[in-house]
Amino acid sequence: MNFDADAARAWVVAAAAAVTENADHLTQLDSAIGDADHGVNLKRGFTAVTAALDGFAADGPGAVLVKTGTTLISKVGGASGPLYGSAFRAIGKALDGPEADAAALGAALRDGLAAIRKLGAAAPGDKTMVDALDPAVEAFVAAAPDGLGPAAEAAAQAAEAGAKATAELQARKGRASYLGARSVGHQDPGATSTALILRALATVLD
Ligand code: ADP
Ligand code: MG
Ligand code: MG
Repeated sequence: MNFDADAARAWVVAAAAAVTENADHLTQLDSAIGDADHGVNLKRGFTAVTAALDGFAADGPGAVLVKTGTTLISKVGGASGPLYGSAFRAIGKALDGPEADAAALGAALRDGLAAIRKLGAAAPGDKTMVDALDPAVEAFVAAAPDGLGPAAEAAAQAAEAGAKATAELQARKGRASYLGARSVGHQDPGATSTALILRALATVLD
């Protein structure tokens, strides 16, 4: 099976369900080191995305993901909206044609990471979503020769490990950075939602 428009749609719908189901947890994490709105922001954004994709005619996965990104940018006020929005848009722009194989999706995910890093200027270790996405993209690309399912599973596991590891880090970007050393000991909300979004991809491609 290749990554086509239906698979992209299924990924986004599964990601929407995951962030909605975990919205309270994400907001709790954000209440410790931010402004207690991450779950609310993503729930609102992904609810708008599923509505926008309903009946949206797409000729390939790229169109679905560009639409997802554009909608997140317009509907989410917090930092995470433009960051996730530009990532989905970059992933979608990288995917032309009716379907993508694992190598193409890996390259597209790398473009998504680059978009987040360009917009947010966060490096690995700054305690942001980059700490989940960067190892996930590397794991996906490394496992791409094994196919989409194994690559997505490797990416989800790497994202989960990266998100957990943010607890030990001091924040250097975003609102959590205002806390300085007091941000240590709390898992980053954005890294946590990135792990949910990549777990959703693994579930859909399994
Ligand atoms: P806000 O901080 O505006 O309330 P959210 O709560 O929705 O937005 O999202 C916060 C998350 O966004 C953080 O946990 C972090 O992962 C991510 N984030 C914040 N600033 C940056 C940045 N400059 N680069 C990458 N990720 C960032
Ligand atoms: Mg917040
Ligand atoms: Mg906010």
